[in-house]
Amino acid sequence: MGGKIGTYNLSITLEISYSFYAYIYVNTVLHCTYILQEAILEINRLEREQTDFSRHCLFCREVCTGNRRSLFRHMADDHAFHIGQPDNIVLVDDLLNLIEAKLVA
Ligand SMILES: [Zn+2]
Repeated sequence: MGGKIGTYNLSITLEISYSFYAYIYVNTVLHCTYILQEAILEINRLEREQTDFSRHCLFCREVCTGNRRSLFRHMADDHAFHIGQPDNIVLVDDLLNLIEAKLVA
């Protein structure tokens, strides 16, 4: 009988501990997700406001400077390369590097 009570108490303790750790885990993940989301939004804002952007076109020798919009506008107007609203793109250099690598391969 005493063993049953001991097991029962242990089970409750484990259940409470599991719930506590699950709670901590979920809140930590949510907090990290929030921080990551804020960081991505900040990167997006900095890229939107960037004025010293300089990069060659993916399809010709044109070099577009100022803001990334000039490159996307050039690629859309001259090469019919439409990728969406530049203001909605984040980590532009990584995206362009990825596309460039795919084009070269
Ligand atoms: Zn071009």
